[in-house]
Amino acid sequence: MFWFDVLFFQARSWAEAMKPPKMLWLIMLLIVCVVVQYNIISTWLVGGSNSGTGYGFSYAEPGVATAVREELLNAAVNRLRLDDSVSVNIGQKVLHELIMQLGRELLAVGAFGEVSVQTAAYTSLSQVPLTSHATPRLYIITPTYRRPEQIPELTRMAQTLMHVQNLHWLVIEDAENKTQLVSDLLQRTSISHDHLVAPMPQLFKKRKGPKPRGVSNRNRGLEWLRDNATDGVFYFADDDNTYDIRLFEEIRTTKQVSMWPVGLCTKFGLSSPVVVNGTFVGFYDGWVAGRKFPVDMAGFAVNVQFLLKRPKAKMPYKPGFEEDGFLKSLSPFDPEEIELKAKNCTQVLVWHTQTKKNEASAALDLGKYNNTNLVILKQLIV
Ligand code: UDP
Ligand code: MN
Repeated sequence: MFWFDVLFFQARSWAEAMKPPKMLWLIMLLIVCVVVQYNIISTWLVGGSNSGTGYGFSYAEPGVATAVREELLNAAVNRLRLDDSVSVNIGQKVLHELIMQLGRELLAVGAFGEVSVQTAAYTSLSQVPLTSHATPRLYIITPTYRRPEQIPELTRMAQTLMHVQNLHWLVIEDAENKTQLVSDLLQRTSISHDHLVAPMPQLFKKRKGPKPRGVSNRNRGLEWLRDNATDGVFYFADDDNTYDIRLFEEIRTTKQVSMWPVGLCTKFGLSSPVVVNGTFVGFYDGWVAGRKFPVDMAGFAVNVQFLLKRPKAKMPYKPGFEEDGFLKSLSPFDPEEIELKAKNCTQVLVWHTQTKKNEASAALDLGKYNNTNLVILKQLIV
């Protein structure tokens, strides 16, 4: 708390020389400092309890919390700068000192997590990179296909992934050709990505009953990894699920195969490993059907090197048994070896949300609406 005391006494002497409105901004900055201090303490508490799991320290909270803290600091400092009279009174130099002092203290207590280690030589906060290079790299394999919900789903997912560092997104369309709107969306996000196509084989497309949805796409993703990746961790993340960004930091530390709970899944509303005293004892899933691994696609991640050592591993075109088939193809690997994530499987960080199916839109009456905005809008929807 020592930096806070220093700031408080400095602030008191400035306050004496200031008029009430100017003081308001200073008080706001101090409140931000208190929030920051509180965040540091809670981050440490969370980190401490997590490190007791035996599965390594999670970088999730420091990473996310750092961004939030910087956001708060920037907002407060910008507000102060907006008020010229305050700038004149306090002076940019003093403001700068204030930020530097705060930065030094944050670095000293390790609030920047990994960044503090990598940037110990930095003396000024402005020199500290805003993004840490979280490693290992994450490969997110997302099957998708053209339908009315495609762009909304991918927009939502992209704007989740934009918060995750060191990630490469493999967006693989079940289609003969790439959809231009998908390419445009990927370009806009500036997420590191590859946009690929892998149509479902005609044989399965024509077949009546349940189809092996997203299998050709995921196998294309595995092929891409074998050709392009040497390390890191991959995750099959469907375009329609809901992801808590903390999940991606959990995944990052996967040494072989990790698992965690998935919400809104099967009649149990949940699919999860069952854990007793930190040890895996079985699976909880509303549809077991004799599967060795009764889990959801969104509930596991695999280390890339682990995959590369298993050249035959792939997903079968077997509706309902895609996860089980793929995990069995990772042999030698047994359920007892699963690395438990999400605080020993006590958190739900991903949901198997399913968007309502929408009919393709009716044709636009060009006699009535030619030369209107609707002509352009119609090209954006299915
Ligand atoms: N998918 C696909 N082709 C299809 C149907 C689905 O590529 O013909 C993709 C879809 O975009 C999603 C994944 O495969 O990312 C799983 O499909 P869906 O969400 O329909 O299956 P569910 O979650 O209901 O099992
Ligand atoms: Mn789905």
